Amino acid sequence: MKKVPMRQCVGCHNMVSKREMIRVIKTSDGQIILDATGKKNGRGAYICNSRECLEKAIKSRSLERSLKAAIPSEIYDSLKEELDNIE
Ligand SMILES: [Zn+2]
Repeated sequence: MKKVPMRQCVGCHNMVSKREMIRVIKTSDGQIILDATGKKNGRGAYICNSRECLEKAIKSRSLERSLKAAIPSEIYDSLKEELDNIE
């Protein structure tokens, strides 16, 4: 059996299967983008497919800390949209 890669969620801090998460990355030129495919290069942060985790991450600013960058509000908006599509 192939082991599923686990990543730590920036919201709940649990280790979760990458497949159940959304990846947010900072590209080499400093842009913050959602990486739906999980294949883009860059420093990545992961968050569960859960509105609760997103709210936690927003409140604690852990996404900012993890990526060492300011997160534009559009990114949070598209994360919310993304989660609404999943749920
Ligand atoms: Zn989580």
